[in-house]
Amino acid sequence: MADELLYDCIIIGAGPGGLQAAIYLGRYNRTVLLLDRGGGRTSHARHIENFLTQKAISGKEIIDLGMEQARSFNVVIEKGLVTNVEKHEHFEVYVDKKKYGARFVIVSSGATDNLPQIENIHKFFGNSFFTCIDCDGYRTMDKKLVVIGNSLHTVHLALAMKEMYTGDITLILYTLSVPAVYIEELSENGVRLVNGRPKRLLGEERLEAVELGDGSIIECEVIMSNFGYKLNASFLSNLSLKKDTDNFKYLTNRHFESSCDGLYIVGPLSGNDQAIIAAGEGALVAIELKKRLLEQ
Ligand SMILES: Cc1cc2nc3c(=O)[nH]c(=O)nc-3n(C[C@H](O)[C@H](O)[C@H](O)COP(=O)(O)OP(=O)(O)OC[C@H]3O[C@@H](n4cnc5c(N)ncnc54)[C@H](O)[C@@H]3O)c2cc1C
Repeated sequence: MADELLYDCIIIGAGPGGLQAAIYLGRYNRTVLLLDRGGGRTSHARHIENFLTQKAISGKEIIDLGMEQARSFNVVIEKGLVTNVEKHEHFEVYVDKKKYGARFVIVSSGATDNLPQIENIHKFFGNSFFTCIDCDGYRTMDKKLVVIGNSLHTVHLALAMKEMYTGDITLILYTLSVPAVYIEELSENGVRLVNGRPKRLLGEERLEAVELGDGSIIECEVIMSNFGYKLNASFLSNLSLKKDTDNFKYLTNRHFESSCDGLYIVGPLSGNDQAIIAAGEGALVAIELKKRLLEQ
């Protein structure tokens, strides 16, 4: 074992979920190891405006402050990519060949956006290229918006954006042929429909347009992309955890405990993808673990 200590809890992922759990458990004077590979979703959020008391804060700032706060309560934070979790007498968590032991594990490893292959996307991601209506819908207010995707869900998203934020919307669908009833509804709502594949984002300081594969150019100030996300959870594959009917998210009980006794899952892996919700779930799990550790 890399570290002979049997931790009370190992937390995988230092986003809002993992950090909030770490702060609670640290303040219960429990031994906590927080493992994080770096560069998660929250670090890409340039403006978080819906976190209580924070008019505007970057995700990176939340993480930096959270790490400092967790360390002040003696949480051990190590950088590393968790590759496997096993359960024997206790949990074994692997960072490559290094093995760490714990009584309980909290998984808060988040998700990764499915970003379409478009030139310059990273220049505008989080600034004018968005992927989440709850996070950044408000930032598109009264702007020239392009919605891109390839499902009926994308059509619903375009109509929702029209109702809540802006009247100037072009919906670009890659290949989906839209049922007539939706074409009518889009037209009634003044949403322009284009079929095509975005190739490049144009603009220096600010986003100005999207260029399609056929060379046509659609002016826009903001883009809402709708290709979903994948869960950062490959390291859980040996535990055969129960998932939902879509075989996507992990099933947990009201304390966020998975089908494996002692392994808890918070954030988008089991539910919502919002920073404040992940943090709340982290706190709830920590309170539950306080009780279970006392019982042990
Ligand atoms: C552009 C953008 C804007 C956003 N804006 C907002 C907003 O305004 N408001 C809001 O509430 N939410 C916003 N979000 C969503 C918010 O970031 C997520 O809700 C939040 O990330 C969920 O927190 P989490 O702790 O579950 O996961 P994350 O923040 O994703 O943290 C997970 C951590 O686990 C690490 N990790 C993953 N796999 C491993 C592994 N195998 N080993 C070790 N570490 C691992 C990751 O690197 C990461 O550091 C935004 C997201 C994006 C991308």
